Amino acid sequence: MSESTTPVPLDLPTGDGWATFVRDRVDQDLAQARELLDTLKDSTARSAEDTLELWNDADIRLRNAGSLAGVLAQVHPDEEVRTLAEDREQQVSRFATDRGLDRALYEVLAAVEPSGLDEQAARLLERTLRDFRRSGVDRSEDVRDRLRELAERATVVGQDFSRNIRDDVRSIRIAPERLAGLPQDFIDGHPVDADGLVTLTTDYPDVIPFRTFAQDAAARRDLFVEFQNRAWPQNDALLAELLDLRAEQATLLGFDSWPDFDAEVKMIGTGTAIAEFIERITTLADPAARRDFDVLLKRRQLDDPAATTLDSSNSAYYSELVRRENFDVDAQEVRRYFDFERVQTGLLDVTGRLFGVEYVPVPDAAAWHPDVTVYDVHAGDERLGRIYLDLHPREGKFKHAAQFDVATGIAGRQLPEGSLVCNLPRGLMEHSDVVTLFHEFGHLVHHVLGGDQRWARFSGVATEWDFVEAPSQMLEEWAWDPQILASFGLDADGTPIPAELVERMRAAKEFGKGYFARTQMFYAALSYQLHLHRPDDITATVRELQEKYDLFDYIDDTHFHASFGHLEGYTSAYYTYMWSLVIAKDMFSAFDPKDMFDPIVAHRYRDEVLARGGNADAADLVANFLGRPYSFEAFGHWLAEAPVRVS
Ligand SMILES: [Zn+2]
Repeated sequence: MSESTTPVPLDLPTGDGWATFVRDRVDQDLAQARELLDTLKDSTARSAEDTLELWNDADIRLRNAGSLAGVLAQVHPDEEVRTLAEDREQQVSRFATDRGLDRALYEVLAAVEPSGLDEQAARLLERTLRDFRRSGVDRSEDVRDRLRELAERATVVGQDFSRNIRDDVRSIRIAPERLAGLPQDFIDGHPVDADGLVTLTTDYPDVIPFRTFAQDAAARRDLFVEFQNRAWPQNDALLAELLDLRAEQATLLGFDSWPDFDAEVKMIGTGTAIAEFIERITTLADPAARRDFDVLLKRRQLDDPAATTLDSSNSAYYSELVRRENFDVDAQEVRRYFDFERVQTGLLDVTGRLFGVEYVPVPDAAAWHPDVTVYDVHAGDERLGRIYLDLHPREGKFKHAAQFDVATGIAGRQLPEGSLVCNLPRGLMEHSDVVTLFHEFGHLVHHVLGGDQRWARFSGVATEWDFVEAPSQMLEEWAWDPQILASFGLDADGTPIPAELVERMRAAKEFGKGYFARTQMFYAALSYQLHLHRPDDITATVRELQEKYDLFDYIDDTHFHASFGHLEGYTSAYYTYMWSLVIAKDMFSAFDPKDMFDPIVAHRYRDEVLARGGNADAADLVANFLGRPYSFEAFGHWLAEAPVRVS
């Protein structure tokens, strides 16, 4: 039943073959998965191993179908293909729901005798039975029917919610002199129209530099308000429905709330622990937050002596201004060193060296758009997987930055394949874009290195969801090292970025970490609280929680929740980012900052954390790597340390 040939990457179609490809591929995978699951239920006596192998075979098909439909729904340039892929995504998730509620199937697996199984197989069995119980398989038929309806509806509503964010690109038109403060290449890229105005959109390549550099406070605020109002009002009702669907699901499964249900399978464990974590970080961050916020406010008062506070449209601008003036870091000076092509090459060199792999370009490989570059990941003679880099914005494409699975890696059977989907500019980049690229690449490398697993359930980024960000957050540290940055950060004349500039950037980066943590706790509290008690007026809750946790003020008549895309995928677990950061800081403490490529530490990290995928609990992986359990200590020290002014 298991194929044992040398695995080769997917053969993606070219030209207009995509619709047929998606349809055939997904339909075939689902049909095979169904057949395999039917075989499992045919009452034949099977060994425990054979039962799990059949289950795994079906699981591989289901994941393949889901990955392919999932990525193409977000990236394919042809709207028809995206729509088709979305439709197949719904079929896949319906299939997964039915599988989870299939009592006969559950009984087959529940009857498996675990005593003869090896550790990994026993773990698979235990996790699979837990998944079944969390689906509600042991509930009455009425309840199972209702759970099925809820899941189906939640998929559709979730897709609508995300699509509205993706499709609602807003813009403002302003007089060209209001671009004052922006880099010249940005100004050149925004020519004046027939009315003598320039258009700025809410897409990242416009909104991020504009928020950061535009001196005109009113224009900054206007674009920011448009940005915060994306997908509003249409997503207001969708979000309310989504929250109700989740609450009902959790109740039917015997949990007090959605956060309790969701947290059960995460490192954090319970909804209450999320609330405690948010309070713990809020308190821990408070001194640093107030200290640095006060500096921002004083700076703003030089522009506007009457100002008593700062709202969200001022956070990026004044943070940048203080970094420039007090730490002598000028982001425009910095960005001269980061040309997209060189950064991409540098990223591959750095991570290749760190993880002991090589990225071999596959220029002939088909992909969904000419912008996409394809590489095979090799370790010595062995091909480990394939990656697709889809890094620039285009119409109808996913608006944020993320890694998408293209195929799940199965040892000896199929290669892990994944795509990085970002919205980076084509020429010069901000250093923050460089950091984003390293971060997202961390997920991709985790997917590939963790993809040598027998069981699909544990392949790739299959670890607890609240650990998922830690490897990526740790990899960001490599985008802050002077020597590493100088290896690919060269200006137009080929001069590498000076080490003392990077030292100043590092000091400047430390500025604002406290108020940044407070803004993150606002998001975390919003994601948690909305799921705990769905309010009638969601906007009022946004305002209330921003006032409580964030140091920046809420702006009237904005509706951040409508475009808070994480509410779809992360649900009540936005705290994940900060939780992971606590662990990332702890893991990074094992590296010598003076020798960040030390192969002994790097390879231990690769083998003990990344390559394990989900085949052990994250807390154990981290303990194996560190030689002790994880702690808050490194994070607490980092947060408390004041930024050192070097200017
Ligand atoms: Zn991430």
